[in-house]
Amino acid sequence: MKKLIDLNLEGKRVLLRVDFNVPLDQDNNVTDDTRIQASLPTIKLLKEKGAKIIILAHFGRPKGLVNLEFSLQPVRAHLEKMLDESVVFIQDVLQDTAVDQSLSLQNGQIALCENIRFYPGEEKGNPEFAVQLAKLGDIYVNDAFGAAHREHASTAVVAKHFVGNSFFGLLMDGEVAALDKIFSEGQSPVTAVVGGAKVSSKIDILKNLMPKVDNIIIGGGMAYTFLLAKGGKIGNSLVEADKTDLALEILEEAIKNNVEIHLPVDSKNAATFSNAAISEITTADAVSDGFMGLDIGPKTIELYSEVLGASKTILWNGPMGVFEFENFSEGTKAIGKAIGKASKSGAFSLVGGGDSVAAVKQFGLEDEVSYVSTGGGAMLEYLEGKVLPGIAAIRNQS
Ligand code: AMP
Repeated sequence: MKKLIDLNLEGKRVLLRVDFNVPLDQDNNVTDDTRIQASLPTIKLLKEKGAKIIILAHFGRPKGLVNLEFSLQPVRAHLEKMLDESVVFIQDVLQDTAVDQSLSLQNGQIALCENIRFYPGEEKGNPEFAVQLAKLGDIYVNDAFGAAHREHASTAVVAKHFVGNSFFGLLMDGEVAALDKIFSEGQSPVTAVVGGAKVSSKIDILKNLMPKVDNIIIGGGMAYTFLLAKGGKIGNSLVEADKTDLALEILEEAIKNNVEIHLPVDSKNAATFSNAAISEITTADAVSDGFMGLDIGPKTIELYSEVLGASKTILWNGPMGVFEFENFSEGTKAIGKAIGKASKSGAFSLVGGGDSVAAVKQFGLEDEVSYVSTGGGAMLEYLEGKVLPGIAAIRNQS
């Protein structure tokens, strides 16, 4: 598959879809520009190549209506500061003037279009709307991994008008390569660490991973439903009592697939759901009455770290406990460190989907693991085995 880096883009109009859905404060200042930073390498590469860059992005949920509360103007101002240059603003992508603006850009100059979700055709994936968008570029580049699970006009449908001229941006390319390293090229043993609150929200992930991994390490609140299903005493721990059959089904499926499922052997429990709670450490199947398991215990940390130390490919989704409480963060932190250590010894590790990314950042482990995904919902859907339309629209052309 041809890559962006190989193209001659001098004077070409590149329609670039990014994820600039950043948080703003009351004065419209961007409070966290991680998502913009993530697409800067692509923007800079396009500038170096002399492309005319027309950026499409969404912001918030204006539900197909023009609502200036969701204008991308504040993001434009922030981008201008980051790049130290002015950015043209395209107010309405449906006007002929938008096409004129795209054509009159200097090579290397950038234009940002107003919030693409101001148009009802965007989220509906409307083909006619995609035709209008396609008029703004000669080449389409998708760098919005965070929106890759949406079959919207600007994230997927528009690619049909750029057959042979649709490419991943550098961020998207990195995300896809990291996923391939886990799922297609992953060296054995492959270990998935799955944690978080509920079994019900991770069930599709567990089922999808089953034929692809050697080990599944389970932690967090969801572990207690498994422990209960196996006859353990779990006190007041978070549990989905109606999901014990499902938990047993997963354990059986693991045996059939030759996958080893690792469950906690001990548990750090609290008398109340608070950082300052009185705590105890018990075996995982003997949580005291009135106590709730909020973290994996020290023996579990040791066992899980050993499995991770012997792994060559590691995927991590979901914390091992209530890491937001310092007194119950040890398990998540230790597992993050063990993944970091394994990565240093040559394993490939990918952290993705929601709270485990927050945990990695909280513990300053971003540089210890091999890859931290930027796409919460998109990553989760990929892990559940769903096709991501944003990726498929480009990959299926080649
Ligand atoms: P998820 O979004 O499903 O990955 O869940 C993440 C949330 O699960 C975090 O906010 C954790 O605090 C929470 N969590 C992890 N372990 C436990 C536990 N043992 N009991 C209750 N909540 C937990």
